[in-house]
Formats: sequence, C-alpha cells, structure tokens
Amino acid sequence: MSNGVFVFVEQRDGEIQKVGLELLGKASDLAKDLGQEVTAIFFGHNIKDKTENLIQHGANRVILVEDEKLKEYLTEPYAKCLSEVIRKYEPEIVLFGATSIGRDLAPRLAARIHTGLTADCTSLEIEDETKNLMMTRPAFGGNLMATIVCENHRPQMATVRPGVMQACDKDENAKGEVIEEKIDLSDISDGIIIREVKKAESKKKDITEANILVSGGRGIGGPEGFDGLSELAKELDAEISSSRANVDAGWIEKDRQVGQTGKTVRPEVYFAMGISGAIQHIAGMEESDLIIAVNNNENAAIFDVADVGVVGDLNAIVPKLTERIRKEKQLKEDM
Ligand SMILES: Cc1cc2nc3c(=O)[nH]c(=O)nc-3n(C[C@H](O)[C@H](O)[C@H](O)COP(=O)(O)OP(=O)(O)OC[C@H]3O[C@@H](n4cnc5c(N)ncnc54)[C@H](O)[C@@H]3O)c2cc1C
Repeated sequence: MSNGVFVFVEQRDGEIQKVGLELLGKASDLAKDLGQEVTAIFFGHNIKDKTENLIQHGANRVILVEDEKLKEYLTEPYAKCLSEVIRKYEPEIVLFGATSIGRDLAPRLAARIHTGLTADCTSLEIEDETKNLMMTRPAFGGNLMATIVCENHRPQMATVRPGVMQACDKDENAKGEVIEEKIDLSDISDGIIIREVKKAESKKKDITEANILVSGGRGIGGPEGFDGLSELAKELDAEISSSRANVDAGWIEKDRQVGQTGKTVRPEVYFAMGISGAIQHIAGMEESDLIIAVNNNENAAIFDVADVGVVGDLNAIVPKLTERIRKEKQLKEDM
C-alpha cells in the first residue's frame, strides 16, 4: 500500500533550497487530509546537520542519503538513489521544485517507476471522495486551468515552481526521525565529471527573494525606461522585474521575468509600471501582498488585481514618486 507525502528537497553547496521548505509546507496540508505523514528526501554529502531544519519545517521524517557522488547534482546518481528510495517506501505522493534540478530529475523518475508527472502546478488539493491528488496547472497558453489526476499509478507526482507554495512557520520543538539509507553507486559511470563549478556573479537579488519589486512592462517605452524604474527601486531598496514583452524585446534579462513562463513572486509590494495585466503575467504576481499599478489605460486588466491603481503616464508619475520617497526618507533621517 502506498504511504505518505514525500518531498524531494534540493540542496546546493549543502544549503537547503527554499522551494524545498515551501513544498514541505504544502505536503503537511496534503498529509493531514490523507491522515498520513510527511517525509523529506535529502541527498548530498556531509549534510546530516541540515536535517533538523527539515523537521522544523514540517517533515515527520527525513530519508537521508549521503555519498560523495551526491555532493553536486548529477542526473545518474540522483535518479538511481531516488528510484530506489521510492521503490522501497512506496509513497502516495512525491513533490519536486520546478527548478532546473527538479525538471531534470522528476521526469526520469516517472519513466523509471512508470507513473505520471504533472509539471508546474499552481495548486495541489486532495479530492474528498477519492483521496486522489488534484494537480492544477495553466494549460493552453494560460487560457484555462487544467486539473490533472493520476488515478491508476502511484506515486502521484508533481513539480511546483519556487514561490508558489508557502513554507510553514518554523517549529523549534518539532521532533522527527532521520533514516540513513546506503545506496551502492559504484556502478554509476564516470561519463560526466564535474571539474569546477563557476557561479555567475550577480549583485542583484533573485526576484523571488525580494520584499519589494518594481516591475516594468512595454509601457516603459524602451530599455532606457528601466533607468527611471531603477532610481525608484534604489530609493525603496527594491529589485527590478519585468513582463515578458520586455524580455522578448531584449530590454532586460530573462531571470527578471515575472509570470507563467518566468518566475512566480510574492513580494510585500509589487509595482506594475506600464503592464497591461495579461493572464500569464498575473499568474506570477497575484499573490503579492500589495499591488500598485500605474497605467495610462483606465481599462487595463492590471487594475482588476491592483490594490492601488493610478491612471496616468508613468513617465510623469515615476520621477515624482521617486522624488517624494527620497524627500520622505531625508525628513526621517533629519528627525
Ligand atoms: C504561453 C504564453 C506564456 C506567457 N508568459 C508570460 C509571462 O511569464 N510573463 C508575462 O509578463 N507575459 C507572458 N506572456 C505574454 C503576455 O500574454 C503579454 O503579452 C505580456 O505580459 C504583455 O506585456 P506588457 O503588459 O508589458 O505589454 P502590453 O500588453 O503591451 O502592455 C503595455 C501596457 O502599458 C501601458 N502603457 C503604455 N504607455 C504607458 C505610459 N506612458 N504610462 C503608463 N502606462 C502605459 C498600456 O496601456 C498597456 O496596458 C505569455 C504569453 C503566452 C502566450
């Protein structure tokens, strides 16, 4: 019989990735509805001291596999370890982050253990009657939401992008079990060897981590439109993000894109400057705590989700807003 909700928790350089904690939060809700428990699957090298954090974020137990070959992500050893763990424990559900690692690993596992996989889910719920997992994701270019059910195979598997689910509060007193599994990786070929890891240098924060985002749409008029937004962002200690239109036009890097084919963000404040509010954009930012939109078209769809809407030309509004914030900050400093 299948049992439990499992989360594959990624580590990079031994650090737990936030999406893993977010998925543990969702897994706790699903497990409650099923009357089952949450298990974190954690692979790496010298990472045992991190397992407590997983328990404090909702895991009832952690299945830990440590091996030098698991220090950095490589498809073959990870896929082997994961398929052995899944075959042994037979979970009901397995969740992955829709990251580059999750997107590589989850389909391989699905093929090896003959089950289905629903990618990029935005909602996961247990159906009352059948206890099946209902996996909802945008379909047909985001024009409708499809709910997919994996009725005949187990485990039911889904990937979820970072920022979509919410981690539960850390419980310092939580208790859980750590099971150390040994998996023989001697037969894994050395066909791929990681010689060196070079990280792209960036002073910019990832937009999914920012508390405030100043986001520009095609309404900013050109790549130079980001200069004004950057001034505002500087005053607010915010990050710059964008709609896809500007990314496609080459005005800004892809890693700044918010939306269905970009990143899902949940900042405290989201400024939508000259963004029309297409469904694919809204899908990536509607969970923001406060949405402030500036658009010269009073019928723009962005106003349907905005908490504060300003109808007007952003070229006039952005400099004024920046100046006002600068002055307010100065006044506070002088006090
Ligand atoms: C499969 C698929 C996936 C997609 N994924 C994404 C995604 O991840 N993210 C995303 O953003 N889009 C995505 N899109 C594209 C999406 O459909 C829209 O085309 C895009 O979001 C439009 O970007 P925009 O709002 O910046 O531009 P526009 O729709 O051109 O809107 C520009 C807005 O600026 C306003 N404006 C113009 N000048 C000014 C001014 N001076 N002052 C104030 N306002 C002004 C206009 O009134 C208008 O509302 C996707 C599309 C498809 C088909």
